[in-house]
Amino acid sequence: MSNKINKVAITGGTHGNELTGVYLINKYKKNPDLVKRDSFKTLFMHTNVGAMKKCTRYVDKDLNRTFIKKDLVNDALYSYEDVLAKSINLKLGPKGAEKTAVDFIIDLHSTTSDMGLSIVIDNDNRLTWQVAAYLKEMEPDLHIFRWRGDTKEVSFVNSITKDGFAIEVGPIPQGVLRADLFFKTEKLVAHTLDFFEKYNRGDLHKVYETIEIYDHIKLLDFPRDKSGELNATVHPNLQDNGYYKLTKGDPLFITLEGEVINYEEEKDVYALFINEAAYYEKGFAMCLTEKKVIKI
Ligand SMILES: [Zn+2]
Repeated sequence: MSNKINKVAITGGTHGNELTGVYLINKYKKNPDLVKRDSFKTLFMHTNVGAMKKCTRYVDKDLNRTFIKKDLVNDALYSYEDVLAKSINLKLGPKGAEKTAVDFIIDLHSTTSDMGLSIVIDNDNRLTWQVAAYLKEMEPDLHIFRWRGDTKEVSFVNSITKDGFAIEVGPIPQGVLRADLFFKTEKLVAHTLDFFEKYNRGDLHKVYETIEIYDHIKLLDFPRDKSGELNATVHPNLQDNGYYKLTKGDPLFITLEGEVINYEEEKDVYALFINEAAYYEKGFAMCLTEKKVIKI
């Protein structure tokens, strides 16, 4: 953790219907001084402009599952997002290089589920976790979720660089700009940039040793019938109730006939990304996690 940070990228519109990131980048375009710091350069950009125009998550496929090293150099892949991922990879990466064009990526997202102010981390790098601990100190309401993925290789935009994370805030319906969470996201980005400024100047008089996280256990699908259609949905206890603690015997799902399906595992878990609209097509009703304190 001794190298200086030279360049940070803020990316928004990775999912074209998540307007917090789309409009925050618009705001930075009008007021670049907001993200200017003396000791490093900040680059900000819209990622999936095609999806933004249509106000959809993506055009052909989920851009935030497209940054797979071998695919980024595969000329036979030419969907809208495959081509886009290659150009973004060249601008910010390339992924896997010892020295990437930027040192850290902050990718902006929102979710329809009640995630409050959260960051999603998919790497084990010390710098990323030091930033996370600093953010938690600045914003005690922040939740930190360690994602273990739905793809073999982490394929998020922020996986182009070794260090980085996604900001997830919600609940926000798709295609909606919500003021309170917009300003919270903006503040979190500003804190992140302030961290790098202090880091570069040697003004961080503290090394964080531990952090409380929600650690990915598994993704849980809806109960489905033989044809794959949902025959139950999330129980009302969990709806709009992010980071819900589930104990054996607690209601989990409810069938369309009103029959309650309970959580039957022995281990207490915390549910998040509950009933996220974008995850219906992926086959996830929620993510189950373990709350723990880890050494960083
Ligand atoms: Zn998103």
